[in-house]
Amino acid sequence: MLELKNLHVEVEEDGTEILKGVNLTINKGEIHAIMGPNGSGKSTLAKAVSGHPEYEVTEGDILFNGESILEMDPDERAHAGVFLAFQYPVEVPGVTNTTLLRESYNTIAASRGREELDPLQFDDYIREKLDLVEMKPDFLERSVNTGFSGGEKKRNEIFQMAVLEPALALLDETDSGLDIDALKVVANGINKLHGDDDAVVLITHYQRLLNYIVPDFVHVMIGGKIVKSGDKGLALTLEDQGYDWLEAHATVNG
Ligand code: ADP
Ligand code: MG
Ligand code: MG
Repeated sequence: MLELKNLHVEVEEDGTEILKGVNLTINKGEIHAIMGPNGSGKSTLAKAVSGHPEYEVTEGDILFNGESILEMDPDERAHAGVFLAFQYPVEVPGVTNTTLLRESYNTIAASRGREELDPLQFDDYIREKLDLVEMKPDFLERSVNTGFSGGEKKRNEIFQMAVLEPALALLDETDSGLDIDALKVVANGINKLHGDDDAVVLITHYQRLLNYIVPDFVHVMIGGKIVKSGDKGLALTLEDQGYDWLEAHATVNG
């Protein structure tokens, strides 16, 4: 489904190279965890795949279902089924969560093989989805981000995923700042949403989310490269030993 080939990515503005040759293959039905210390390039990877304009691919390729998406803008990638949970950056008083979600849903509906939904239909549709993230219906009518707690924002990301049903979900630090109950709810939601036809990439600094979501593959990113890949056991090793032993390894191998 997703193939990164020798991917080099720079910050558009100043030409700083962040990703230095990433190779990664993700198939339908798989869950991949990307771990690594702060500043290693994990978020940049997610943003490069989703087409964020701040980043420029200078070498290599991103293939989605066998075709390069480098020339596609973020909207076109979303139409193709790539999802990067969007953090609403600002509070938007007066625009409800439902309104914004319906707009996102309808925008990509046709290219995802679905009908657009009017407000009443959409209301029915999302009420089923609320249960997945154990969210109360009044959440839908609240203005975007106004007074959302950290946990609610994270739940909202999974809720977006439930509503949009992407082929490829990139979840960047979805576990950060969640207490253990909220973490379980979020993990449960992801597990229920994930199936044979989609893939999930969990970007996380900590391994605790992986106690609840079992990844098929774990990759460690250091210094803009994937320096080690393994199965879920690798996450446990990292919890036990940290990243230092791999940093030494990364340096030795340039
Ligand atoms: P991670 O998500 O693994 O913590 P990031 O991908 O956010 O790492 O960042 C990797 C490195 O790239 C960091 O040193 C960060 O400061 C730098 N970086 C990322 N985005 C930008 C940007 N837009 N402008 C300047 N530096 C950036
Ligand atoms: Mg440049
Ligand atoms: Mg990050």
